[in-house]
Amino acid sequence: MKENDEILVIIKSLEVRRSNDKKAHNSRVYVFHEGVGPKPLFGIANGERWSHPTALYRKFVLPKVRKEMNLDSGVSIRWSQKAGCSCGCSPGFVIDDNRGCRDVFVSVEFALKQPELPGI
Ligand SMILES: [Zn+2]
Repeated sequence: MKENDEILVIIKSLEVRRSNDKKAHNSRVYVFHEGVGPKPLFGIANGERWSHPTALYRKFVLPKVRKEMNLDSGVSIRWSQKAGCSCGCSPGFVIDDNRGCRDVFVSVEFALKQPELPGI
């Protein structure tokens, strides 16, 4: 996507926890936006949870998650609107690691790419 080329996603924090979901077979990644109001309610109220920029997450967030979790390149990661709840309120990435069950919480901020200065 062309307009996404100018946007950077900056990872503010990344935390890996053991999942509380005893039935889950796969790890999950949840991304939160910093500075847009109290979590998690604000994300529900403003619709953010139904309109995540997943292409940007794939570009900026998932490489860091793969590294942090030691995933080899063959492990696939898919976006699911129902990753955390069957009603769709808790979307996230599902990692096909079959080892279950870690939850990865990532806080991000967005920034615009600065134009490159000539001569640098
Ligand atoms: Zn729900």
